[in-house]
Amino acid sequence: MQGDTITGVVDLGDALVGAYVQDLAITLSYALQQIGVDPARAGVIVSAYDARRALTPDEQRVLPTLIAARHATSLCIAAERFGLNPEHATWFSHMEPTLRAIQMVQGYSPRDLEDALCQGCQRRRQRGRCVDDLRAKRQRLGPSLSLSYDEPLHIVEGRDQYLLDADGRVYLDLVNNVCHVGHCNARVVEAIATQAAMLNTNTRYLHETVLEYADRLTAKMPAPLDTCFFVNSGSEANELALRLARAATEHTDVVVIDGAYHGSTGNCIAMSPYKFNGPGGRGQADWVHSAPMPDVYRGELRDTDAGLGYALEVGRVIGEATNKGRSIAGFFAETLLSCGGQIPLPSGYLAGAFEHVRAAGGLCIADEVQVGLGRVGDAMWGFELQGVVPDIVVLGKPMGNGHPIGAVVTTRAIAEAFANGMEFFSTFGGNPVSASAALAVLDVVEEDGLQSRATRLGDRFMDGLRALQSRYSIIGDVRGRGLFLGVELVRDRTTLEPAATEAAMLVNNMKARGILLSTDGPLHNVIKIKPPLVLNEGDVDRSLRTLDEVLGLMCED
Ligand code: PMP
Repeated sequence: MQGDTITGVVDLGDALVGAYVQDLAITLSYALQQIGVDPARAGVIVSAYDARRALTPDEQRVLPTLIAARHATSLCIAAERFGLNPEHATWFSHMEPTLRAIQMVQGYSPRDLEDALCQGCQRRRQRGRCVDDLRAKRQRLGPSLSLSYDEPLHIVEGRDQYLLDADGRVYLDLVNNVCHVGHCNARVVEAIATQAAMLNTNTRYLHETVLEYADRLTAKMPAPLDTCFFVNSGSEANELALRLARAATEHTDVVVIDGAYHGSTGNCIAMSPYKFNGPGGRGQADWVHSAPMPDVYRGELRDTDAGLGYALEVGRVIGEATNKGRSIAGFFAETLLSCGGQIPLPSGYLAGAFEHVRAAGGLCIADEVQVGLGRVGDAMWGFELQGVVPDIVVLGKPMGNGHPIGAVVTTRAIAEAFANGMEFFSTFGGNPVSASAALAVLDVVEEDGLQSRATRLGDRFMDGLRALQSRYSIIGDVRGRGLFLGVELVRDRTTLEPAATEAAMLVNNMKARGILLSTDGPLHNVIKIKPPLVLNEGDVDRSLRTLDEVLGLMCED
């Protein structure tokens, strides 16, 4: 102002308080409108900015969204101006480059876009180094322990059905069946913390919690399964089941199902064709006999009577063993096959097989480590779906929601036959903290109706997967029960040539989109789905949409 004369105007109309990263996003949105500038080239701007002011992981993550928002705003402004005066070309001259930029950016997932833009950022490089450091340090855990995924995950937090990695990325966990009632479930955490702050001893003292849990657990089992042994893992539980069966029958041998895994101890490896026939395996021990997998998709018997047919196979295997003078102590069977490839047993299978086993004087052992505790929805235990009562039930994984506890539930008569004077004791098995965790898990399963939730969401998943199967010939079979599902990928629906490479690719592509899955089955071509039971409808729909997107990309010509 000079006197009353205005000599200039300061326009503060665009001055707003906002996040710094918005400036960068707007610059990038314009850069991407230039012909020949793709996200990797625009990354030069990000690197230069980052060199002066390092971008936080959160800022890096929001860049794609902010760029999309800027493009959308620009386009809307241009369209509105065009409507007001189509003659005034300079008003909306940015319409075409904006559209072009939107189309180009649409070819990237938000995560890929972030990667392309931020590849030169300091903190990203540091994080890369952190993963490399952890991998190097992990050598100390020995070379036989593998890592999941091509690019391993560094998970730092879990909540319900989600996992958070060190970069702050959230993953939907469709594959961990241990955290049954959700990662870090508040009630389980509280039960563990409260009891740990009070007392943790062992089962040689009287304590209410383990007894209450034993009551609650056996109340969920049919008679005469009324006696519990507590251990620390599924392997220990199967190992103990073997001892019980041998003690009660005075026989030695076992029958197992091909492709099965029952645990990591010496005897469990010997009872796991998945291991003894796999890499580094030493083949079948003389006291172990394998029956074919009752697989109605890929196995020899595929008709409606297949259950009985496969049960006859168990009878045949037992006959061959007894003809050689062997005696059968037990038949170990998962009640839906997990490592075998997420295979539900055909109807009549266990009833028939159990008859043969019992006729040979053996016991029937149901390994419910993966599928028990309501996962199959319609029943608490997988064996109930087959209408049978085993002599011994083996439990593990979901019991403590991640806290180590396993159990063997059996009849009083078998427990008495085992009590030959030698004491059974497990230092940690059934301790007050583990028992509190397990009790809290049971409470949540019951009070939050997780069994019916498993049915509802499992059916929704299954319907969606079947719809995908009708559109993608690579999906040969969709199967399972409740939230224990399998999708078998094949290159040819007639020859059933397994699509193992494609299955691995699908799993890695889903992971890149924030959804965790993994493969299973002897041919490594089955996608397994066994999430925490707290999954919701939105998670299922998103998983199906993302599967559709990934299959669409993988299967296009
Ligand atoms: N049985 C089955 C069916 C399993 O899947 C597993 C573990 N994957 C085990 C037993 C052994 O359990 P753990 O690893 O707790 O010893």
